[in-house]
Amino acid sequence: VWDVAVIGAGPAGSAAALAAARAGLKVILLDRQDFPRDKTCGDGIAPQVLDVLESLGVPDVTEGYTPVPVLRLDGPDGASAQREMPRPAYVIPRLVFDARLVQAAQRAGVTFRRHTAREIKAEAGYVTVDEIKARVVIGADGASSLVRKTLGEAPNQPGHLALAIRGYTAAVPSQPRSPEDQPGEPPRQLIVLARQHWPAYAWSFPIGDGRCNVGYGEMVTRTPTSREHLLGRLRALIPGLGELSSVRAHHLPLSTSRPAPGRGRILLAGDALSLINPFTGEGIYYAVTSGKLAGEAAVTGAFAASAYEQALRRTLGRHLRHTTATARLASLPWLTNAAIQAAGRDQRVFDSFVELGLGNGLLSAGLLARVVRQIPGKWASYVDAGK
Ligand SMILES: Cc1cc2nc3c(=O)[nH]c(=O)nc-3n(C[C@H](O)[C@H](O)[C@H](O)COP(=O)(O)OP(=O)(O)OC[C@H]3O[C@@H](n4cnc5c(N)ncnc54)[C@H](O)[C@@H]3O)c2cc1C
Repeated sequence: VWDVAVIGAGPAGSAAALAAARAGLKVILLDRQDFPRDKTCGDGIAPQVLDVLESLGVPDVTEGYTPVPVLRLDGPDGASAQREMPRPAYVIPRLVFDARLVQAAQRAGVTFRRHTAREIKAEAGYVTVDEIKARVVIGADGASSLVRKTLGEAPNQPGHLALAIRGYTAAVPSQPRSPEDQPGEPPRQLIVLARQHWPAYAWSFPIGDGRCNVGYGEMVTRTPTSREHLLGRLRALIPGLGELSSVRAHHLPLSTSRPAPGRGRILLAGDALSLINPFTGEGIYYAVTSGKLAGEAAVTGAFAASAYEQALRRTLGRHLRHTTATARLASLPWLTNAAIQAAGRDQRVFDSFVELGLGNGLLSAGLLARVVRQIPGKWASYVDAGK
């Protein structure tokens, strides 16, 4: 009997396996694919991800990749903010990034096995994953999680689910609304928000080897969409894109609607727990954070789910409430535009939005007031009168 079986070896699963192994548990990490494997993603690695990995004893995951210090946001109504991030991000193809994490887990004593989980059953004192027995099972099996289904939890519904397509370009595309851009400028991540199909955006993230990860995402609605539509929107928002390779789309279960984090000895982490930031689509930070907490909670055996729920609430509870509120506000394109305008004018506003969109940040009253001040007319004068 294993102490822990982790299903899925993406960032959530590897972080869970690492945390459990570091707590002295005997861990098996399962994935239906061998590594390295691709995962449809923007490949943007927020600096906050690196903090979590470092705390798990993995300091070298960015080796060989260039830091990307600048972020540019183009708003839906013409506002634009381009600034240095408080700390640089990285763009590391998931083909490389996820394999490095699996290797780190193996170095920490975790056993990796290629295996597609098909049936999970809770028994007295343990859980079975097909023929594998473990005291605790962590479902880190992504956006179409089988473990989540086993717990009787429905997948995210339209309104709480996005769909994004991504591809790789051989050359850095020309970027819109920035004639001032010159070669030799520091590398930057570009995000272009679109009014059409709001909330929706396209991105272009430079990997540092001459290629860019480019993509486009929008909310899932009751009307089915197509690959042609998503690619058409990408090309409209980032003109001048050449040929794209490895073009694939994938769902993003947003954190505005989450299932219970676990029951008894079975836990969910990462996308399986719908932990994607609703206004940036960032999910890797929440995957490694929840994975780490799930792996640590596994030491409590039968009490794992309640220990995990408490740890999650302590670590991410306030942030998740604030991002849900922010997503509601961001459903108004003009308010988002005002937020980008404020971020363009004030580094503190920019930094706060970066922390809210990529990490564990909060939406403070002061931040909101700085945004509202950008709106011409009545609201802004109320705020100014209250100063
Ligand atoms: C187009 C797109 C762009 C994105 N861009 C970014 C970005 O730039 N930055 C960012 O932070 N986030 C981004 N995200 C979100 C990010 O990709 C996810 O949040 C992240 O991958 C979640 O990690 P995870 O470990 O929970 O799941 P995954 O990375 O999906 O890993 C799940 C693993 O489980 C395995 N698995 C599934 N079912 C089974 C089974 N039955 N048995 C065994 N194994 C199984 C899969 O093979 C897979 O390896 C993007 C998402 C999309 C779709």
